[in-house]
Amino acid sequence: MPEVSLATPTPDFTADVVIIGAGASGLTAALAAAENGSEVVVLERDASPSGSTSMSSGFVPAPGTRFQHAIGVTDDTAELFFSDLKAKTYGQLDERLARLAAENIAPAMEWLADRCGVEWHVLDDFLYPGHARHRMHAVPEKTGAALEARLLAAAAEAGITIVTEALAETLFFDEAGKAVAVGLKRPGNTTEVIGCGNLILACNGYGGNQQLVAEHIPQIAGGQYYGHAGNTGHALTWGEALGAEIKHLSGYQGHGSLAHPHGILISWALMMQGAVQLNNEGRRFSNEMGGYSEQAVKVLNQPDGIAWNIYDAQRHNFLVNGFPDYCEAVGAGAIHCGADAAELAKVTCLPELILASTLAEVQALASGVGSDALGRDFTGVTPLKAPYYAVKVTGALFHTQGGLVIDNTARVHRADGGTFMNLYASGGAACGVSGPAVEGYLSGNGLLTAIAFGYLAGRNACVV
Ligand SMILES: Cc1cc2nc3c(=O)[nH]c(=O)nc-3n(C[C@H](O)[C@H](O)[C@H](O)COP(=O)(O)OP(=O)(O)OC[C@H]3O[C@@H](n4cnc5c(N)ncnc54)[C@H](O)[C@@H]3O)c2cc1C
Repeated sequence: MPEVSLATPTPDFTADVVIIGAGASGLTAALAAAENGSEVVVLERDASPSGSTSMSSGFVPAPGTRFQHAIGVTDDTAELFFSDLKAKTYGQLDERLARLAAENIAPAMEWLADRCGVEWHVLDDFLYPGHARHRMHAVPEKTGAALEARLLAAAAEAGITIVTEALAETLFFDEAGKAVAVGLKRPGNTTEVIGCGNLILACNGYGGNQQLVAEHIPQIAGGQYYGHAGNTGHALTWGEALGAEIKHLSGYQGHGSLAHPHGILISWALMMQGAVQLNNEGRRFSNEMGGYSEQAVKVLNQPDGIAWNIYDAQRHNFLVNGFPDYCEAVGAGAIHCGADAAELAKVTCLPELILASTLAEVQALASGVGSDALGRDFTGVTPLKAPYYAVKVTGALFHTQGGLVIDNTARVHRADGGTFMNLYASGGAACGVSGPAVEGYLSGNGLLTAIAFGYLAGRNACVV
């Protein structure tokens, strides 16, 4: 159980900066802290660091970078990005944190490229819902696993110590409210204590803790958790025990397109390219352009909690050529194909007549005939053409967005005013920029605060 102790510990060794969690956030923080000469130790519960970062698509939104300029996007700004973030939450986000993230992500990304050798490309073949510009950056492999691998390689190059199989359980504080050490559980049920000059919590949120999810986000408690299992809410539990300010615990990233039962992400780029979602009755049930996060709840509310993504060969080829997850889904046998509506009905067990009528309606809408009762604008969408493709999906919880409120240097706020003198939080451990509800998640908000707040935490925590 995570706990806070006022006992005086005897550290096995001490580092200037101790970071809990070796995902994108912890590694970015470690690189930033080490650059200024601090001795940095990262504590990671797993034998091999991966985190939700490795499960992710690895897409990071950043406005005004030179990587955007290189592909001709020259008019994006932190202010424009902030207004997209705000609009997605209907104005319910924490504006200061959103500005902090929007203003710091581009410098953080350029610094990762210049100082740590992390190469970025901007994706310009589709826009995710809610983004006014092409600003999604990815490493060349376009996977979160490759992003994690590149950060780990940079950490090794910088001589950063990563202690694996090190489950942080106890935070030791002194009477003055200063973090002094971290108590670890190591293999064989042994324990160790690491002393710290500064402490950064980068151990993500509480998606892997069913009890906390049921308490704070009951609407998704029945859905699958598809983030890293080890993210069980330690930062939240420590923060509560310490009297930290905590906000937006009901906010999260959902996803309405997880191949079922295979558990493979089917990118929402498919919908942006003109696919539609039908329920088990063969009917559309939503405007698919709203965003993939809120779609998780809409899908879970359908019969059996599932939906079918329906598309055609053109869209299938688009995904095969750019999305490694989708290729995995093809290999796993998750993708079905039918020469026409009747055959598609057979392979999916969808009712043939209703399916045919839904496809005809979608065809008409994409050809500019009529308007969609569900509110989707089909302008510019090429009509689907047989043969048709289908993948069965469900809604899932990817990660939680609420957490510890930080100041502009990433120090954790106290609920009763002021900040902790040497306690920092970043990534999923910190309060995010998605407001209190699933609709507020703008794609990329996860890695946005992992990298921007990790960068801030690392730079500031190195000043002892
Ligand atoms: C399928 C999927 C796709 C996604 N795609 C995107 C995307 O394209 N773009 C985007 O912006 N976001 C995406 N996200 C969200 C994104 O992955 C996360 O927001 C981001 O990785 C969080 O980074 P982090 O460093 O805070 O956490 P993590 O990467 O989860 O790292 C936290 C680490 O802390 C460790 N840890 C936890 N507790 C302890 C403890 N007590 N002691 C020691 N170690 C501990 C964990 O083992 C883990 O390694 C996606 C998420 C999923 C699940």
